[in-house]
Amino acid sequence: MMKAFVMKKVGEVGFIDKPIPEPGPYDALIRTTKALICTSNIHEVHGRVKAMLDKKNVTLGHEAVGIVEKVGSHVKVFKPGDRVALGGKTPNWLDPISQTGHSSHAGGPMGGHEFELKRDGVFAEYFLVTQADGNLAHIPDSVADEAAVFAGDIVTTGIGGAENAHIPPGGIVAVFGAGPIGLMCVRGCRLLGAGLVIAVETIPKRKELAKYYGADVVIDFKEEDPVEKIISLSEGGLGIDSAIEAVGTQITFESCVKVTRPGGTISNIGYHGGREYVNIPVEAWGGGMAEKTITTIMSPGGRERLTRMLRLIENGRVDPTKLISHRFKFDDIEKGFRLVESKDPDVLKVLIDFE
Ligand code: ZN
Repeated sequence: MMKAFVMKKVGEVGFIDKPIPEPGPYDALIRTTKALICTSNIHEVHGRVKAMLDKKNVTLGHEAVGIVEKVGSHVKVFKPGDRVALGGKTPNWLDPISQTGHSSHAGGPMGGHEFELKRDGVFAEYFLVTQADGNLAHIPDSVADEAAVFAGDIVTTGIGGAENAHIPPGGIVAVFGAGPIGLMCVRGCRLLGAGLVIAVETIPKRKELAKYYGADVVIDFKEEDPVEKIISLSEGGLGIDSAIEAVGTQITFESCVKVTRPGGTISNIGYHGGREYVNIPVEAWGGGMAEKTITTIMSPGGRERLTRMLRLIENGRVDPTKLISHRFKFDDIEKGFRLVESKDPDVLKVLIDFE
């Protein structure tokens, strides 16, 4: 038997004992070493995720690293004892949508989010990874577990948001929101050759980290109007090349549309669930004719991509460990959970140690 931290039902979390799962032919059983609490875990427990409403005793968590304990007969790339990172999304790579290159949505929008929604997550002494050869990656020897644990969700989403923003080399980009993913996005913009990176944020610690990760300008939206300020920084006041939405609110989304120039890109990584529509400001959109592109992304995974994200960490291109604001042992995970739930402005990422 093993210990698992579960959502007993909507609104209630706690530990229960579960049998150690047995891997199927394509699965791997992983012994957890480190994990991170995600704000989406709070959304799930608070009843804001439809697919979780009727769930009972489901193990939470989807951001983790560990050691391979056991593999199924058809797993070729990994063997017991390997140190591995995994995607926050563990899709079915045989699904038609995966084959179009959008694996996080295998089976339908957000369908690649299998942990918690379709099977037990990672907040347990052991967990299963399906299609292990596709959903795991080896951690380079020089990369610590506490850094690698960011690769599969926070780093891949942040970098992906910057890739999706189609920033021309030397171009101007603004990132709205400097939470953990927004901060990785700021870093991604720098890595991809932006000429000027603007971050919009008000929490002091996050503003400081935005600078650390590469923002040239940080705009505090409580002190000045970010739309006006960003447009004033653009060539001829015509708007900037790219804007990234990393919050998931109407105001930040429409600000992104307003600050981009004709032909610019709005890259959305914020989660807009929980309301019926997201509105587009028609004038800034040129009545639908301004040739602005809206792109979206949700933690792209897969062994090839995870390996590249780990290489960024290995060679010092990005150091996600600065995002760790609190640490707890697995026995105390509920304390960490309550901290993330509290929306304390000093909380960024809470690391859980299983060793
Ligand atoms: Zn997450």
